[in-house]
Amino acid sequence: MARYRGALCRICRRETEKLFLKGDRCYTEKCSVERRQYPPGQHGQRRGKLSDYGIQLREKQKVRRTYGILEKQFRLYFERAASKKGVTGELLLQLLETRLDNVVYRIGFAPNRVSARQLVNHGHFLVNGKKVNIPSFRMNVGDVIELREASRELSLINDSIAKVEHRGVPSWLELDAKNYKGKVLQIPAREDIQLTAQEQLIVELYSK
Ligand code: SF4
Repeated sequence: MARYRGALCRICRRETEKLFLKGDRCYTEKCSVERRQYPPGQHGQRRGKLSDYGIQLREKQKVRRTYGILEKQFRLYFERAASKKGVTGELLLQLLETRLDNVVYRIGFAPNRVSARQLVNHGHFLVNGKKVNIPSFRMNVGDVIELREASRELSLINDSIAKVEHRGVPSWLELDAKNYKGKVLQIPAREDIQLTAQEQLIVELYSK
């Protein structure tokens, strides 16, 4: 399956929830979910009650689309989480949250995950001093992320850092904006992950 390249707001509208896929616009009244709180399409306003399976599926789609991950890759994340000791749903979210592209977004180097993925792909970041251009690269406690010297003039990044106070940096990350550096302080607990998803429903869906 190819990566989705359509309108991002349509994805939020499909889930009837703000997934914050665009950045600044998501915090304004221009947000499409604020204006139209029903799924897109001709029958969007007429959809009936969801079955249990439908509810589980929507929950999975919501999380998968929030992180911009393809179905196959998402399934692999689930299998990795299920093979570990602990609460599978929480482990799944931790694996997603510690992806390099997500850390770039959460720490404030990018306005949204789509831009973060692109910045990582283009090799703008160092992790522990080495260039890493793999968006799915897994960050660990103590890892230091740094913007390369040559990329420090990029307006997209500087604009995003300037707005980070508004968005806030999660407590499990540390940002040194002056030096374009950040650090993973700890693996995020469930309450540190700003997602409204009920991850248990995803576990139920995949456990069928
Ligand atoms: Fe989603 Fe942001 Fe578009 Fe609102 S503005 S619908 S939160 S992507």
